[in-house]
Amino acid sequence: MAEKRQFEIPIHEVPGHAPIALDELPPWLKRQDLLDADLPYLHSLLEESFADWAEQSEDFPWLSGPMMLYHADGSRAGIRPGTEESAFPASGAGGGQPLPRAVEAVLRTCRPAMLRADPAETSADHALDSLAVPVFSRSTGILCAVMAALLPGGSAQAGDLKLLQAAALHYRSCLYRRFELLFIGGLIREQKLTRKEEARRDILFEVLRRLNDHMEVEQVLSELLASLERLYPACRVDLFLSQDYSSTNDKVKPLAFHHPDMGLCRQAFLSGSLREQLTDGFHQLAVPFAGKQGVYGVLRLGMPEHRFDDLDLRFLETLAGSAGAAFEKAKLHEQSNSLVGELRLINELTHRLNSSLKLSDTIEFASSELLNIFQADFCTILQVNPSKSEFTIISSNVKETIGDTFPIDYGFVGVMWVTKEPIILSDYAAAAPVPSKLMTVTQSRSLLAAPLLLNGEVIGAVMICHREPNHFSYDNYKLLQVLSAHLGLAVSNASLHAEVRRMVITDNLTGLFARHYLNERISRRQKRDTSGSLILVDIDHFKRVNDTFGHQIGDEILKQVSEIIRNAIRDGDIAARWGGEEIAIYLPEVGYDLTGKVAERIRLRVEKETDPQVTVSCGMSEWRSTDEKISVESLFYRADMALYEAKRLGRNRVQTG
Ligand code: GH3
Ligand code: MG
Ligand code: MG
Repeated sequence: MAEKRQFEIPIHEVPGHAPIALDELPPWLKRQDLLDADLPYLHSLLEESFADWAEQSEDFPWLSGPMMLYHADGSRAGIRPGTEESAFPASGAGGGQPLPRAVEAVLRTCRPAMLRADPAETSADHALDSLAVPVFSRSTGILCAVMAALLPGGSAQAGDLKLLQAAALHYRSCLYRRFELLFIGGLIREQKLTRKEEARRDILFEVLRRLNDHMEVEQVLSELLASLERLYPACRVDLFLSQDYSSTNDKVKPLAFHHPDMGLCRQAFLSGSLREQLTDGFHQLAVPFAGKQGVYGVLRLGMPEHRFDDLDLRFLETLAGSAGAAFEKAKLHEQSNSLVGELRLINELTHRLNSSLKLSDTIEFASSELLNIFQADFCTILQVNPSKSEFTIISSNVKETIGDTFPIDYGFVGVMWVTKEPIILSDYAAAAPVPSKLMTVTQSRSLLAAPLLLNGEVIGAVMICHREPNHFSYDNYKLLQVLSAHLGLAVSNASLHAEVRRMVITDNLTGLFARHYLNERISRRQKRDTSGSLILVDIDHFKRVNDTFGHQIGDEILKQVSEIIRNAIRDGDIAARWGGEEIAIYLPEVGYDLTGKVAERIRLRVEKETDPQVTVSCGMSEWRSTDEKISVESLFYRADMALYEAKRLGRNRVQTG
């Protein structure tokens, strides 16, 4: 008999699974048997098991003629190799050849049959002895095959039929081995799937745990992509996000809807369900990356020369869904954080903006904050000058543009003047909807701009630029909208304040500074300078002028004298209306010599240029840091004394104190 063999199933792919020996088969498996319903599917099992039998009994001295196996439907399942078919033409069933006569008999009667050659018949099969025995299933007793043999005519003996029966028994054991293997194969496949699913579940659990540990979007994405790389090393993974989000991970890309390669991803995104495609052995999956509130993108996986099975699909769907939920959570968390951050920023900014009423301080501070907040290259703030219908740059880190003016309808500012809406532009180089000197001079490509509004009126604009395209996000745009509202208010407050202050420190009639402002300035300068001098100018016999020409002409003369004084002094000098028709001039860091010349020049010009003509008397005083006592009062007192002296000495003269 054939040596005892151990059949092994190729289950090496199942990790940790030892080969199964047939001897160890459990009794329940031994009780499994073929059923009538299995008969139509038995062909390959019969063929394979007959080949096993033939191989095992290769050297066994069976019958000398050909031995064949037939299916219960009469088709031949095999012939023992080494048989001269040409010598036994009747052995070739199928292909139009008739069945050996004995096989027909067994199929009819289900009993062994041995039919001897009949010399009276002329057909080929009647020239041979034909033997056949039924092969029944082991417990259900179904006729599942017929084993047959042919022998030269007249040579068959009773012992031959017994031998054929033994061969059939042996064959049956081969059949059941195959049958059991088939069974085990199925079981193992199932087991393998279960194990794979279990493994996946473990991994999924682990990944989900880690995903939920992360509160940052970037970490969630990295975790997802790293997990996929671990699980499918041969797989190409891309994550396309529909949102405006820039990741440091090079596998995360924007979802370009119109790109021809993105058809599958587009379908998955729009339908919200997994899509697959198999082209030239490349299996591609597009899995929606979605949370509870929407689909955020598509996870694309591509595997060359390998297919994702159903388990993979289910697994990837769950993973992408969970990662999408974690992404959503992290994104919401980041959004609320950034909202809190924005509120804090707005709060701080408005506080700082309102703490200074000086326009230059306000815009200087706002400008540096905006550059910082938006990580921008340039920031320019413009103010509307309604009387001239133009914008003026009042602050910019492009210093040479400060003071530049533009017609009210020019460029982006012109657009905002009309629309009163902010502007976001991703690439000025790709599309320049309007000309812009700022964008051109700075070679910027990204722009974020907002009008500064007060009571619905555009009072200015803020423009923020970056040299790189796509620098600003939609969140930046919204934030600037909020900030510009505060900035508009601050700029207008500061402007109003500047205007009020200008009014407060200016004398209405003469346009010179008011007395209190001069006092403040002298006092401040006395703290830091080493010297300075004062001229008090008083119009001579002004009462008489009023009496002669009337108060109105008196006022005109006062204005003429003021204008002469304004033209006679330098920028750093301060002229103020001191009293009714007295004007004081403070000259910082100037001594008597020069002051005397200035006073003399004024005196002469008043005498020459006023109409009706008047003259003035001037009293001068000076202070030095070496003086024992320095004060504004003492300076005025001495100048007043000198003036009094000038009057006493005949008027229209300059007197030193
Ligand atoms: P003196 O040469 O001594 O200075 O003679 P004066 O007439 O100028 O005398 P004083 O300086 O004491 O008088 C100032 C006069 O200037 C009184 C007032 O009628 C006139 N005056 C003061 N303020 C104004 C003003 O705003 N407009 C006009 N028209 N007259 C003024
Ligand atoms: Mg006077
Ligand atoms: Mg006078």
